[in-house]
Amino acid sequence: MTTNFQAIIIGGGPAGVSAALYLARANISTAIIENGPGALARAHKIDNYYGISASGIKMYAEGLEQAAALGATIIQDEVLAVEYTGSYMVTLKNTAEPLTAPVIILATGTKNISLAIEGLAALEGRGISYCAVCDGFFFRKKKVAVVGNGPYAIHEAEHLKHLAASVTILTNGKEDSLAKEAGFATITTPLTKVSGDGRLEAVHFDDGTTMEADGLFLALGTADSTDLARKLGAQLKERYVAIDEQGATNVPGLFAAGDCTGGLRQVAKAVYEGSLAGMSAVKYIRNL
Ligand SMILES: Cc1cc2nc3c(=O)[nH]c(=O)nc-3n(C[C@H](O)[C@H](O)[C@H](O)COP(=O)(O)OP(=O)(O)OC[C@H]3O[C@@H](n4cnc5c(N)ncnc54)[C@H](O)[C@@H]3O)c2cc1C
Repeated sequence: MTTNFQAIIIGGGPAGVSAALYLARANISTAIIENGPGALARAHKIDNYYGISASGIKMYAEGLEQAAALGATIIQDEVLAVEYTGSYMVTLKNTAEPLTAPVIILATGTKNISLAIEGLAALEGRGISYCAVCDGFFFRKKKVAVVGNGPYAIHEAEHLKHLAASVTILTNGKEDSLAKEAGFATITTPLTKVSGDGRLEAVHFDDGTTMEADGLFLALGTADSTDLARKLGAQLKERYVAIDEQGATNVPGLFAAGDCTGGLRQVAKAVYEGSLAGMSAVKYIRNL
């Protein structure tokens, strides 16, 4: 069974909520899926947004209330994946049935975690991947590892286990209960570097051990807009989602707004891009 909306927004910060305000007021059935405050959680006080001086948390909570009051459905959950099967199908961590909609707006902000280890950048696309669905096929019968310890990492590993000869989850110093529960081999030792002659060959750990690997898939924290966009075939601009002047990606029905599109990382820009994506999505839905 699935739950259907006309538009699903992933992210409940200024960008996602602003998009929802325009969609809900246009009588479009809209869901916001969000996983708690993003960047606003760390913004002690916003003093440079027109007419408002408030803490980030207050702004976040009041934004969601405003969207809910206009009729948007707020779903507190983590998005693990979005697939396109004639419509967009969104898989959530804690909700069994997927949600579907012809329109998705990506507004997850940006991740504040990355893996800053020696050798990683040079081997990107040469064994280092950020997308199991996109690249898993190239690692058939090979030895791969997934870096991460949350539901998103497990989701990536589940995809890879049907293709690769072996899948090990590297938690990089974090606990491994979820990975073990899912039946994966795990290594909890922190990573120090990756190496290989033109292609990934080994992962090195801070206790001096190494592991041979043909592929290393990064799935730290939760899936962000860039991860989701990449899997749907949308173009990226460096590590951000590329959008046109209407807030649309190059994939029909897929829009993006806020910090995840790069540029000025401020509430004012997130609100502008969210409003634009919301209005563009209304037009798109009315033309379906
Ligand atoms: C310390 C700090 C201080 C700042 N001070 C200011 C300031 O003074 N003025 C200013 O204008 N800006 C400030 N900013 C920047 C501002 O907070 C951001 O530009 C703004 O919040 C971006 O909005 P957004 O909607 O794009 O993303 P965010 O506000 O980051 O919201 C992202 C949303 O996506 C959700 N999400 C992410 N991944 C998933 C997933 N997989 N599943 C479900 N939901 C998901 C999160 O739960 C969250 O609801 C500050 C930022 C920081 C970190």
